[in-house]
Amino acid sequence: MAKVDLDWGKLSFSYMKTDYRYISHWKNGAWDKGSLVTENTVTIAEGSTALHYGQQCFEGLKAYTRADGKIQLFRPDRNAARMNATADRMVMPHVPEEKFIDACMQVVKANEKWVPPHGTGATLYLRPWLVGVGDNIGVKPAPEYLFGVFCIPVGPYFKEGLKPVNFMTSDYDRAAPRGTGAAKVGGNYAASLMPHEEAVHKGFADCIYLDPATHTKIEEVGAANFFGITKAGAFVTPLSPSILPSITKYSLLQVAKDNFGMKTEERDVYIDRLDEFAEAGACGTAAVITPIGGIFHAGKLHVFHSESETGPVTRKLYDTLVGIQYGDLPAPAGWIRVVE
Ligand SMILES: *Cc1c(COP(=O)(O)O)cnc(C)c1O
Repeated sequence: MAKVDLDWGKLSFSYMKTDYRYISHWKNGAWDKGSLVTENTVTIAEGSTALHYGQQCFEGLKAYTRADGKIQLFRPDRNAARMNATADRMVMPHVPEEKFIDACMQVVKANEKWVPPHGTGATLYLRPWLVGVGDNIGVKPAPEYLFGVFCIPVGPYFKEGLKPVNFMTSDYDRAAPRGTGAAKVGGNYAASLMPHEEAVHKGFADCIYLDPATHTKIEEVGAANFFGITKAGAFVTPLSPSILPSITKYSLLQVAKDNFGMKTEERDVYIDRLDEFAEAGACGTAAVITPIGGIFHAGKLHVFHSESETGPVTRKLYDTLVGIQYGDLPAPAGWIRVVE
C-alpha cells in the first residue's frame, strides 16, 4: 500500500483530514450498523445535549505499524470499557466492545495509507467520541446519540528523545471529589483550559492538579496521570476517585512489576513529600511518558532526577512499553489486537 507523502518523524499532534471516518447512530434503543464516511463534519440538532449540557465523552488510542508491516492496536478493549464507564456516568448508551473495536479496525484499514511506517516514531492516533443529539431543551438524557471514530497520523511526541519538563501546581480544580474526574468528558477539559494557559504563561509545560478536597495530594498532571519512582525503587501512583484511570499508567505499573520486579503502590502522594521520589513522570497515550524535571509549588521548584536528563528507571519503563506497543517486544496476553 503506497503511503501519503508526509515527513512522519516531524508530524506534530495536530488535526489533519484523513480519508475515512466511522459514524453510527443510536435511536429508539438501538445502534444502527454504522458506516465509513468521507465528510469530516457532522450536522446535529440545535438542542443536542452535547452542545448545552455537556452530555458527551471521548477516547484516545493508537495504531502502530510493526517491523513486519502489520498494524496493531494497543489495548482497545480497555478504551471500550472506559468509554462505557464514562457513558454510565453521563447516562448515555454503551457502545458494545465488539462495535467499538470493529469501528477502530475499519478506520485504520480504510486509512491505511495514513498509518505511519515502522521506525519513524510516528503512530496513527484514533479519536472515538460519543455525544447526545436530537431535539431537546430540558436537562435530561438525549433521545439520540452519535458514536464516531476518526484518525490522524501523529509524530513522536519528543522529536529529540525523552526530555524532562517542569510543572507548577494549580490553585484551580479540574474535577470535584465525587464529580466527573474519572470520566473522560469534555467538561473536565473545558475546566482545564484556563489553568493550563496560566501555567504556560508562567513558563511551565502544564499544571498539576491537587486533590480538590484538601489540596495536599497530587491528582493529575495536566491531562496525564502522575507516577513517581521512590528512592527505594518502587513505582508509585496516586489513587483517587477523581483521577482519570490512564491505560498507559496501568500498563506501566504492570511492566514495572512483571518485567522489572519493582514494587508497585497505588496510594496518596503528598505534595509536601516529593523528596521520597528519585524520579517522576506524567503518562498518557499521547506522549506515553513525559519525564517531570521539577514541580513548582509554594514558591519553590522541587527537582527530581534532573531538569535536563531523564532518569534511568523512567527510561527503561518507557523503552519497554513503547517496544511492546510497536511489536518489538513481547506483549502480555490480550494487550495487542492486530488489524486484519
Ligand atoms: C485520557 C486521559 C489520561 C490518559 O489516559 P490514557 O489511557 O493513558 O491515554 C489521563 N488523564 C486524563 C484527564 C485524561 O483525559
